[in-house]
Amino acid sequence: MNLDRGSILNFAPADPDLWEVEFVDREDDRWTLPVIGHAVVVTHAAKDAGDLADTGVYPVVEDDGTHSSIIEYLNNWELKDRPRWRILRKPRTRQAACPACGLEATYAADPDRYFHNDGSDNRPCWLRLVRGEATA
Ligand SMILES: [Zn+2]
Repeated sequence: MNLDRGSILNFAPADPDLWEVEFVDREDDRWTLPVIGHAVVVTHAAKDAGDLADTGVYPVVEDDGTHSSIIEYLNNWELKDRPRWRILRKPRTRQAACPACGLEATYAADPDRYFHNDGSDNRPCWLRLVRGEATA
């Protein structure tokens, strides 16, 4: 097998709702991309007999429908301009209108449910969502 730098040897999918990569460039601009998995990537390719290849485990991100390992994604910049990056766990809750009744609510990824901010009963709304009578 002839391995080039950046070759992916193995891929383990991940739920893109759980993890994201945060990038920070030299101007302190920040953006995030969802992590769709982790890959074993060749970081050093053997060139001569007796030379060894090296690998590492890196996140695979999605950017406008394109999937690439973080190593490949960072190749979009010159080495001196490459953004710093780190893996973050996505927020597990967010503010959103209840899709069933429109009340202000907090969505919790676990247990995948909307809770009304005014404390009113959300079970009828949850049942409408589960039955497909309302969609998030
Ligand atoms: Zn509701």
